[in-house]
Amino acid sequence: KKIKVGLVYGGKSGEHEVSLQTALAVIKAFDLSKYEIQPFYITKEGEWRTGAELTAPVENISLLKFEANTQEGAVLPIPSLFGDQSISTDSQQVASKVDVVLPLLHGTFGEDGTIQGLFEMANIPYVGAGVLASAVGMDKVTMKKLFAHEQLPQVVYRHFTRRQWEKDRPFFLMEIEVSVGYPCFVKPANLGSSVGISKARNREEFIEAVEFAFRYDRKVIVEENVEARELEVSVLGNDDPRASVVGEIVSSNEFYDYKAKYIDGKSAMVIPADISHETAAKLQEMALRAYHAIDGSGLARMDFFMRKSDGHIYINEVNTMPGFTPFSMYPLLWQESGLSYQELLDQLISLAVERHAEKQ
Ligand code: ADP
Ligand code: MG
Ligand code: MG
Repeated sequence: KKIKVGLVYGGKSGEHEVSLQTALAVIKAFDLSKYEIQPFYITKEGEWRTGAELTAPVENISLLKFEANTQEGAVLPIPSLFGDQSISTDSQQVASKVDVVLPLLHGTFGEDGTIQGLFEMANIPYVGAGVLASAVGMDKVTMKKLFAHEQLPQVVYRHFTRRQWEKDRPFFLMEIEVSVGYPCFVKPANLGSSVGISKARNREEFIEAVEFAFRYDRKVIVEENVEARELEVSVLGNDDPRASVVGEIVSSNEFYDYKAKYIDGKSAMVIPADISHETAAKLQEMALRAYHAIDGSGLARMDFFMRKSDGHIYINEVNTMPGFTPFSMYPLLWQESGLSYQELLDQLISLAVERHAEKQ
């Protein structure tokens, strides 16, 4: 019997188009003699659509934007949770429809644990990190606290909420200038893709950067700037995870901002990174420790800084929903480690099923 995979893609986030690219690549890569794919397209407005099952690889992205009526073939109870009474919420029926869900969404609602929570409630196995690790991976402050608990080296940082900032701005200005200094990085605590992030060189720029970050979140994190190389490690597994070879991002812009990530396409990936065996081994060990720290499962990409002046390594962040097109760092690192895109998908599906079975 074929494994029926529910592919969830699109979404309300700014990375809608990236998600479509990923969905297309994933559909093409699946061995359709083993898998049956049920697409769930989330429009930019947040509506869930499902249509006829895809039985052959689709060549055109526009075909992925199903216009089909949800009443015809909807399987997941998700739309009904948002008020569509025409869809049964009987979890038995749902479970017999798709065997596993593969969410290909980035950003808020995709990788912050919320959709993972919906799948938990619907009792459907899903690919990728669980609720806790997803939420932690999305919150840079909480993530840093867990990393600190594992003695993972990190840059100096401070954080505050909008209310604290409004109440006591002089205090935080002094605090930042004394402990972090300029230049510094100002980021919304809960986001990704470099959205809302800026580098501030003085007090004036700092205040501007803080206001900018508060547009995206009520909590802001401020970090010491490090002149560093950016190194990344892919991790795959549940209780017994493995780390890939190390890759390096060489950004086209001053830092790896949204433009460098998705618009210019000028940033280069070096795989494997040109670093010593000892450094690579150290990064892999740290990547696995960080994975345990956040209670990771399924997959995650661990991102590091290596200070240019002395080679000191810091952990920057974890991404539980890393870029997943065949040209993205995460799958390319596994490719270099001997695991093809197709094999990677196979493993992710079995890891999802395995984790689900262990909970029963
Ligand atoms: P996101 O989750 O949005 O990717 P990051 O924390 O990874 O956020 O920051 C995005 C980019 O900004 C990094 O890839 C790096 O180029 C730059 N950056 C972030 N923090 C620092 C820092 N403390 N020092 C130097 N560069 C940084
Ligand atoms: Mg991130
Ligand atoms: Mg990042």
